Amino acid sequence: MVVAAHPDDEVLGAGGIMLKHVADRDFLYILILGDGESARDDQGSIQKRAKQAQQVAKKIGAKELILEKLPDNKFDSLPLLTITKVVERTIFKIKPNLVYTHFASDLNIDHRLTFQAVLTACRPQPGFFVKKIVSFEVLSSTEWQHKSPQTMFSPTEYINISQYIEKKVKLMKIYKDELRSFPHPRSAEGIKTLAHYRGMEVGFQNAEAFQVVRNIKD
Ligand SMILES: [Zn+2]
Repeated sequence: MVVAAHPDDEVLGAGGIMLKHVADRDFLYILILGDGESARDDQGSIQKRAKQAQQVAKKIGAKELILEKLPDNKFDSLPLLTITKVVERTIFKIKPNLVYTHFASDLNIDHRLTFQAVLTACRPQPGFFVKKIVSFEVLSSTEWQHKSPQTMFSPTEYINISQYIEKKVKLMKIYKDELRSFPHPRSAEGIKTLAHYRGMEVGFQNAEAFQVVRNIKD
């Protein structure tokens, strides 16, 4: 299960790994907490973004997409408990064993609170079904944080996405209003550059990198 703050984060952070999971016949669920549109009165653009998310989920082959409606860039206007309950509602229904979500120190406040809510929702009580929690990196948020040892994204897992990189870029193009021109990181070339860089770190043409938060083995 992928838990993202905004429609497009799921593709930027985990586009390749999601395609790989589906190819491996895993059941994939995508939960997106916010509508991703700051103009709250503009129902048209909220609906458009939701439609794009549906299109993306369908193209990836997700079992289900769950779209919530938390306010864009204002998750901090809500008590953490409210966000946690939104996450719990879906987590307890689906009971995933593996959860991908944001990095704890992203620049974007919604990303950080999504991480906190996921970690709270996935408290490892005895017999709890979520065995592994993994953080992904999102261009123009993860690398834009203050680069101190405490807030740096430090990958512990790399997945070869060489056969999925073109599809990942195509998926991101569905969210065309979110794409910028290079050298903005959130661009087609930016996505490919990061994939090359992460790949190069471990001897692949293209990779997605992840930081394991918790992995429980019986
Ligand atoms: Zn985001």
